[in-house]
Amino acid sequence: MKKAIYLKELNTVQVEALLKREAPLFIPIGTLEPHGRHLPVGTDTLCAEKVAEHLSLAFDGVVAPSFEYGLTNVFLQTSPSSFFPVDLYRTFVEEIVKHFYKHGFKKIIIINGHGGNQEALKYILRNITREAPMALTIINWWIYASKFVEEVYNTKPGGHAAVEETAAILYSRPDLVTKENYISEVDDCVPSDAFWMFPPTGEVLLEEEGQGQPCFDEEKADVYMEKVIKGIENRLRKWFASFDRLHGGLRPNE
Ligand SMILES: [Zn+2]
Repeated sequence: MKKAIYLKELNTVQVEALLKREAPLFIPIGTLEPHGRHLPVGTDTLCAEKVAEHLSLAFDGVVAPSFEYGLTNVFLQTSPSSFFPVDLYRTFVEEIVKHFYKHGFKKIIIINGHGGNQEALKYILRNITREAPMALTIINWWIYASKFVEEVYNTKPGGHAAVEETAAILYSRPDLVTKENYISEVDDCVPSDAFWMFPPTGEVLLEEEGQGQPCFDEEKADVYMEKVIKGIENRLRKWFASFDRLHGGLRPNE
């Protein structure tokens, strides 16, 4: 398979060439937080990176360095977790995205792997697109991915550290999945408004008891993730194609 292009590995001559052909920039965003006893604590970043790599290849783009620390909330009491004050995080991400734009990237795609980042990212998206004539999208990959769960796994979608993320890590880094550690009685937790517990009693957060649990079948993980990535790719293709109707609206004003 062709190797993705990573911005941090390029020299300025190579970057100039990317800007000239308006290569899309993919920014993976995750966090550091526990993901049950069977998945690595960097799962959110690893998943976002994998999706970004595949998409960058499909669209001749480039992958920016990841944001590995995010707004961990629910698992903040469980080591190791990362946390920023929300306004600091917003400013940090917003300034970096804005500067990528100022330096010539006009099509920026953020691949988010963590639910806790969503609100801050939505705010950034609104703010930046008001200020600059750029194309910016944020893809919460696991939300989109939930639509393929029933079809491939014959179960309802899960949630944190459940069937979706387990599939993504099995697909990209099976060496980081420790099947033996997963015990549903210990790891599963169905959050409820009746009990607000921090930390929750388990890190595999499910919407419904016995549904969406991690599955360790690598072949299924491949089938599932290929559907997810292809689906995102199709949506993005349509998005890129739609710029044509803007007649140069994505060009900088100056
Ligand atoms: Zn996660």
